[in-house]
Amino acid sequence: MQKGEFVYEGKAKRIYRTETPGVFWMEFKDDATAQNGLKRGTIGDKGVVNTEVTRRVLQHLAKSGVPTHLREQVGERDLLVDGLEMLKLEVVMRNVAAGSLVKRLGIEEGRTFPQGIVELYLKDDDLGDPLINDDHALAMNLATAAELEHVKDLGRKINILLKEYFLAADLILVDFKLEFGRRGGEIVLGDEVTPDTCRLWDRETRKKLDKDRFRQDLGGVEEAYQEVLRRLVAAHA
Ligand code: UDP
Repeated sequence: MQKGEFVYEGKAKRIYRTETPGVFWMEFKDDATAQNGLKRGTIGDKGVVNTEVTRRVLQHLAKSGVPTHLREQVGERDLLVDGLEMLKLEVVMRNVAAGSLVKRLGIEEGRTFPQGIVELYLKDDDLGDPLINDDHALAMNLATAAELEHVKDLGRKINILLKEYFLAADLILVDFKLEFGRRGGEIVLGDEVTPDTCRLWDRETRKKLDKDRFRQDLGGVEEAYQEVLRRLVAAHA
């Protein structure tokens, strides 16, 4: 498979066409941004780690019946994926209070939510990806009512699967962001699942092993990304 015409560059990935219509080449960059693009930098070998983590996670989910856009890995920072008609929604799943939830609701960081929390955000950089509810999503035609229910069900299912997957690697899955799209009539998980899009804490020490090290200038960013991959490889041979 050849990398074809350049299609799109996002904050952390580039997308190219391939010779097969509907199949896209997703290249993971080392670039990192935070605060909606205000803070910029690079994280050494992030692209390589994120490619490997996404491939492993999406393959694990697919085995458990979650449809994903992943086809195959074709390079150390390259995945082939199905083109999806993306929903203009971000689905955030939360198991432990952190990040924007702590600021918005005044809940102390680290409080556990045993049932998990599903949140919807409008995918719109100009608006800073605001939190929305189901009625907003329906009023803005972001998805049908059935699609919205399905996306939330998939979010809950993926959360249960990934909590266990990361815990086996001694990582607490604090929260994470998912993006879904349509492939024919089917709702499919797209994008990436990586330490850029998940908060992951060490099970014992609760040390942050994710993009918060970059966001909060905690140091040891590259090492944290490498550590996540090393643990997943060790736990899921
Ligand atoms: N997240 C993401 N992309 C976004 C917003 C959030 O990947 O555009 C992830 C983030 O890494 C975290 C979770 O979603 O794992 C919840 O993020 P939060 O709402 O706390 O926002 P943040 O603190 O990142 O502003």
